[in-house]
Amino acid sequence: MTFPDATDTVQELLTRSYEDWLAAAAKLSFETRLFIDGAFIRATSGETYQSTSPRDGSVLAQVQSAGADDVDRAVRAARTAFDDGRWRDLPPKERKRILLRWAELILAHAEELALLDTLEMGKPITESVRIDVAKAAETIAWYAEAIDKTYDEIAPTPGDALALITREPLGVVGAVVPWNYALLIASWKLAPALATGNSVVLKPAEQTSLAALLLARLATEAGVPDGVLNVVPGRGEIAGQALGRHPDVDKIAFTGSAEVARLFQVYAGESNGKQVAVEAGGKSPQLVLPDADITAAASAVAWGIFYNAGQTCNAGSRVVVHASVKEQLLAEVERITTQTFRVGDPLDPATVMGPIVDEAQLAKVLGYIADGQREGATVVLGGGRTRTDSGGSFVQPTVLDGVANTSVVGQEEIFGPVLAVITYEGETDEGIRIANESAFGLVASVWTRDITTAHRTANRLRAGTVWINTFDASDVITPFGGFKATGAGRDKSLHALDAYTALKTTWINLA
Ligand code: NAD
Repeated sequence: MTFPDATDTVQELLTRSYEDWLAAAAKLSFETRLFIDGAFIRATSGETYQSTSPRDGSVLAQVQSAGADDVDRAVRAARTAFDDGRWRDLPPKERKRILLRWAELILAHAEELALLDTLEMGKPITESVRIDVAKAAETIAWYAEAIDKTYDEIAPTPGDALALITREPLGVVGAVVPWNYALLIASWKLAPALATGNSVVLKPAEQTSLAALLLARLATEAGVPDGVLNVVPGRGEIAGQALGRHPDVDKIAFTGSAEVARLFQVYAGESNGKQVAVEAGGKSPQLVLPDADITAAASAVAWGIFYNAGQTCNAGSRVVVHASVKEQLLAEVERITTQTFRVGDPLDPATVMGPIVDEAQLAKVLGYIADGQREGATVVLGGGRTRTDSGGSFVQPTVLDGVANTSVVGQEEIFGPVLAVITYEGETDEGIRIANESAFGLVASVWTRDITTAHRTANRLRAGTVWINTFDASDVITPFGGFKATGAGRDKSLHALDAYTALKTTWINLA
């Protein structure tokens, strides 16, 4: 059994031309029904919602929209599968074999999965291949490999007793995910939940349902038994809420906005007190000290906010820069952005920045740019809609200078390619104070050549990940999640196995 390596698949797909991708997109067929108990079925109500592509505004599909009764059916299927042990009682080696096969099948269907992601969400096709598909497969394979290498514990009892401390799966997990990294974030929940023997009901975001349905079909093909993984596309306030309030769901694993994260905590409190792990948004600072390598920092600042058109929970959306180096930094950011961030059709491999996910989100982003100007900030790059002839939802990479950290654009998550530039003039302490002055605490970075300052600053930045002289370096091996309003959950790493298991003590009398 080997860890599937995505390199060859990725390399082959990265050689494809724009014409190749357009031709493949034209031939694409996909499933739009709910996936419950191993079968695709229509929503009981027959209701659908429309999936629209932000690349050109075209209608992709009418997706079956799960109601509360469909969610209940999915939860019952998951419960039955959990209770009869068809999955959790398999030898760990067997679960590993099946999950590795699933990871292989994901790579084998990388073209379709990447296309679905790009067409629905607008992410450049190269990124859908490299990140969403390849990293989702890697995540599943990584947790598969972990299953038969993790041990339980024996407590230090007196000699007349033996106490075993074992980890047991929780039961039925509801996974509710956003649209910005639809496959990858789903894999962060599904892989550790399934590896530890749980059953799952996955609720994808309305904007990105299609790849999740293919993912579920591939799981079944790989040998995941019926009922163990169910997918209920549907509206958040209907299907998401029904899952959050369901009395037979043991845990909700949520990633999305801070507002909806809190709703899930309410749903849990008002139903069965189920566990809720939430990973919400951010307003993450990159703190640039006067002695920083400005060229390196500028590149990280540009990529940190414009990558995925800023629709990244850990986007470096605030740069907190010392006044003495601000002009130099901004000039570099502008140069790199203008040279690199080619806005275009996400099916074109030359495109670096695709559209915003939909018109509603685009209007929100443009509204924030206007707010910033009203509050006294200056647009020094971009600032408006672009590629209007395409019919798609494109916005220019935008830099707002002179932002007050306490203003709306200094505090609220814009979730678009809009950088807020905040200047400080005093000592590093002032920069740290401003960086920490946020309701969120997902990630932060510090740029300095002084190792002592770097460590001291990293220690004081209130964020789940702090980068020193880099940004967005990550791997499945390290935990990901945040402090404060960002939430308390952590995805990735072996620690995520704890999030889907409960400790059980078995005390044996040896006297
Ligand atoms: P969202 O909160 O609107 O939606 C997330 C999910 O919740 C979707 O599946 C949606 O259908 C569902 N939902 C929406 N309203 C609901 C309701 N009333 N009841 C139950 N479920 C409901 O977020 P989004 O717009 O899809 O994603 C963007 C947000 O996700 C941003 O805030 C971003 O920062 C955050 N995010 C966080 C991380 C992280 O790891 N911390 C990663 C990616 C995205």
